[in-house]
Amino acid sequence: MAFDCYCAICGVGFSGMRVGSPSDATPDRRRRCVERIARSLEGTTTVDADEDEPIYTYDPRLVDSDNVAWTSQLHCLGMHDDATGKSRAFISGPGYYADAGELAVKIGQPSKRTYFNCYGFGTDEVPGPVMPFHWCCFEILLRTLTGTTEPRNVNLEALYDAMSSLCNWSGSALRLPYGEDVLRAQGKYWQCLPGAEYSVSHPGTSIKDAIQTHIQTNQNLRIPPVDIDITIGNRHPTNPFGTLPTELIHHICSLLPGDSLKSLIQASLFIHLVTRDNAFWKRFIESDIPWLDEADTHALRTSSSSPPTDLNYQLVHQWLDAATTPTYGMADPVFMGAANRRRIWGVCEELSRSYRALCK
Ligand SMILES: [Zn+2]
Repeated sequence: MAFDCYCAICGVGFSGMRVGSPSDATPDRRRRCVERIARSLEGTTTVDADEDEPIYTYDPRLVDSDNVAWTSQLHCLGMHDDATGKSRAFISGPGYYADAGELAVKIGQPSKRTYFNCYGFGTDEVPGPVMPFHWCCFEILLRTLTGTTEPRNVNLEALYDAMSSLCNWSGSALRLPYGEDVLRAQGKYWQCLPGAEYSVSHPGTSIKDAIQTHIQTNQNLRIPPVDIDITIGNRHPTNPFGTLPTELIHHICSLLPGDSLKSLIQASLFIHLVTRDNAFWKRFIESDIPWLDEADTHALRTSSSSPPTDLNYQLVHQWLDAATTPTYGMADPVFMGAANRRRIWGVCEELSRSYRALCK
């Protein structure tokens, strides 16, 4: 029986990526389709007698066949017994998804084509489950585990144990939070759902140029912080943080996720004032947005023409956070790859908790 299996790291399929043509659905029809799905996700679906036929292709204005080509090549992580009977984890060479849970990859030197079953029961040679993944997803996982993209820095046996512990024997992916848009697409076959194009955009796409252009040209990012009189109405705000040195408060704030820090700033005038420091926000961007690649981060620090000296890094953080949030219906192709990387980074952080516990 034919069915699809999905990448253990990003949850996306290896085949069946269909990009529509401009003639098979007009932009208006696509917009109505995305709005209808968005309403149903919000639970506000209304019965529409003139409802269009559903669309099962991606918007050609947002992705093209080159942009989704990364999904078709896979590698896998498996465990076999060596000549001494000891289990050894291995990463295969490149291959492809055949069908019905079977993948074909190159193994060994000289390499020979070998067939494995994804996730399910193993073979004599490889008795446990085999986890398929895209190489670019594996590199993101390596960065969360080791800070590098070098496979030899990772403990493969621990990684195999962490991944196989999240494996359903009859499943087509791991039990990981791939995101609602990916989980909805994981049917018997991969569903190309309009509005979820970001989830199949190449996660290695750099946004360096977009960052450079935006910080050089957007005057809204240069608004200086507003001076607030801490003694408003002769009222001295008291705060449990008030007795701590500023450096320690900055350190505590830097450990919070962006959303939590935003809430704390809104709730506390004292924290609002203490975190108006531009240097704090420069550092916070790097700790709160670790999934930016090296070139993206470099673009924030310097560029062919250096960032404007009056750049407000708190506003830069707000802009970057909003522009790269993986959201159903997102329609800016420049940031869709980065949004996908951010989604996958979140999955990898979840996986890295199991890995670190096993490494201990
Ligand atoms: Zn993947």
